[in-house]
Formats: sequence, C-alpha cells, structure tokens
Amino acid sequence: MSTVSTSFQRLSDDDLATCVHCGLCLDACPTFRVTGLETESPRGRIYLMTQWKRGTLPFEEEQVKHIDLCLGCRTCEGVCPSGVPYGRIIEAGRADVEDRRNPSFKRFASRVALRQLIGHPKRLRLAGYATRIAQRYRLTSMVRSGRMLPPLKARYCAPDTNVAQAWGPRKYRVAFLVGCVMPILYPHAHYQAVKLLQLAGCEVWFPPDERCCGALFAHNGDLKGAERLRDHNIAVYNSEHFDALVVDSAGCGAHLKDFYPLLKGKVKDLTEWLAEVGLPEPDRKVDVKVTYQDACHLAHAQKIKKQPRDLVRKVAGANFVEMRHADICCGAAGLYSTLEPDMSNRILDQKMEDVLATGADIITVANPGCQMQLEAGLRARGSRMKVEHVAETLMRAYPPPQRGEASS
Ligand code: SF4
Ligand code: SF4
Repeated sequence: MSTVSTSFQRLSDDDLATCVHCGLCLDACPTFRVTGLETESPRGRIYLMTQWKRGTLPFEEEQVKHIDLCLGCRTCEGVCPSGVPYGRIIEAGRADVEDRRNPSFKRFASRVALRQLIGHPKRLRLAGYATRIAQRYRLTSMVRSGRMLPPLKARYCAPDTNVAQAWGPRKYRVAFLVGCVMPILYPHAHYQAVKLLQLAGCEVWFPPDERCCGALFAHNGDLKGAERLRDHNIAVYNSEHFDALVVDSAGCGAHLKDFYPLLKGKVKDLTEWLAEVGLPEPDRKVDVKVTYQDACHLAHAQKIKKQPRDLVRKVAGANFVEMRHADICCGAAGLYSTLEPDMSNRILDQKMEDVLATGADIITVANPGCQMQLEAGLRARGSRMKVEHVAETLMRAYPPPQRGEASS
C-alpha cells in the first residue's frame, strides 16, 4: 500500500467534479447490471479515482480491479444528465493507474504486444500470415489469441495506386482508414465499405504508411504510445487533400474524433458519411431477417444510432427487427475479453438472450470487436445466426461490381 501524492496528474479535477453522484447511470452500466455492485458502476469508479487524485484514499492494487473491469463503453456518458466526460476520465485514470501498479503478466504481455506488434504494420502482417498458416494446419493452440479469433483469410489490400475511383461522376474525395487488425480479421468488411463509397460517388484514397490509430493503446492506459502513433499519422494525412476520413471501425472512429484535434470535423463513421452523402436506390431488398447491435463507440462515444439503422432499414425494409438493449455493450471492448474473460462472458450471456430473442438470420455490427464477441457467443450456443459488418449487409442490396470497378 502507498499513499497518493502527485501520481494522478492526468485526471482532471474539473472533469471529476462534473459528477453529482445522482446514480442515473447505474442501470445503463453493463458491469453494474451483472454485479449490482456500486464499485462496478460509473459513480463508484469516479468516486474511487477522485479519492486517489485527492490523496484521501490510498492506492491499493486490489482496488485497481474496479478500474480494470470498466469496459470503457461510455454508455454512462450517454445517459448522464450532468455531462460527465467519462471517456476522458477513464482513459486518464487508466494512464495514471498504469504508472503506479505492478501489472499482471497478462497486462504486461498485452502492453508489449501492443507496442511491438499492433503499432508496426509489417510485423502485424507477418503475425496475421503465421496465424492463417497455423489455422490452416490446425495449430491454433500455438497461436491462440483470446478465445475468439475468426478464421483468417487473405488480408485486405488497398490498390497499388492507393486510389480507388468513384463509380460514375466523382463527387467527393475521401481518405479511408485501413487500420491495424481490421484488414487482417475482417478484410471483407473493408472491401464492401470501399465499394459503398465508390457507389456514393467517392474517390477513395488509402493513405500510404498510415499506422494503427492508437485506440487500443489509449483504451489500455498507454497514452504515450497513442500520441506517438497520432503524430506519425497526422503527418501522413496532411500530405493530401480529402473531404472526409472515413472509418468503418467504431472504436477507431471514436478515438480519431477525440484524440486527433487537427482532424476535427473530418473524421466520419462509414454510416455517418453514407447517410450524409446518400447512396443510390438499392437494386434489391435484403430478403433475410436482420437485426443491429450498436457498437458502444458508435452509439455512445460518437452518438450515432440513427444513421446505421436508417441505412439498414432502407435495404431490409420489414425484414429489419430491433433488438432489446441493442445499445448495451456485448462485453468485447478491445482487449477486455482477453484481459477480463469472466466479466466479459457474463455480459455476453445477457447479450445473447437479447440477440437470440430477435430470431434474426443476421446480426449486423459496425466494429470488429463486437463481431468477434458475438460470433463467439453464437458459436458457443450452436446458433446459425450470422454476424456481419454493416457494410456487408448494405452491399447485399447492390449487384456485384463490373470487372475492374472495385480495384482502381
Ligand atoms: S456519472 Fe453522471 S449519471 Fe452517473 S452518478 Fe455521476 S452525474 Fe450521475
Ligand atoms: S464505461 Fe461502460 S463499463 Fe465503464 S462505467 Fe461507464 S457504462 Fe460502466
């Protein structure tokens, strides 16, 4: 045990003081919903961090668990009447905690993996390739990363020219975030997202040398690592003109909007952008039952709930079915399902009840973490329901592109 002196400096007194302890956020918090414990609620965590900051509570390792168990889903932020900037508070709090704690082996290893792998595109590509080989020859126990890695296919490749032309007259020029794990885990989602942009009259630029946006680093308390990646990426983005930086992963989009002030107003989630610029009328209806799970970093951090629903409704019509508690976290939360598997599973159990009750054929999502988590939940229950990215669902309503259209 040690007393707190000046260590909790990143936490802002002003941010902490916005909490008036009303408790209106408690029922919206996934960890409070499954435990019923004040210590696992937003109010409890804010109280703990406030006392640490003031030095009125000693910093004890066992109390850190309450901070670790926060998903960072920011559902509390969306329902708080006092405007508590919970996302900023938890990221700053985690960075302060990381300065003080003795990390478990798992946490230490995750930080090393982030710094040595995720931040380095070539190494990550190599790891993805090795995992694919291992999966093909059923050596998965050697490369197990959490419990939910999907079967990997060839990773997403941007065109050699780094530009994909608009289909029809060019109306916009957008940059597209390829990102770090998304092109390896769910390349098909990227291919469909780019086709949608081309359909919407966008020329798509793929910034060369772009690296991971840093979201996973910031969510895990490594703000210095996140800053290094931001500085690198900003120099890349500054090299060309574009109307918007389009992102099809909600966690990355939220991070870019919060953490890259120089891109203010230019970062757009794919669904936000498509709702803004419009898509052509669909060629056909999606003829299977579709439901939508909100990604926390889209619904709560970016406040985007209507646009993806409107887009999916337009292609699915009466086949769209709303899910109960669709905006409550599924328990994925970046590395959370690997670092805190017990709580992640308890939250997933609740989510699966709501998912299965829809009777849908497809659950559509806007974030790779949600996709992995829901796929694992459905697999464990022997369900045939399919999880896919919202870009894949939307592209079901359009015919395949003519030869050459998708690649240049
Ligand atoms: S975070 Fe907001 S909703 Fe929750 S207790 Fe504090 S003021 Fe109330
Ligand atoms: S971010 Fe999510 S898990 Fe963390 S306190 Fe808020 S609602 Fe609860």
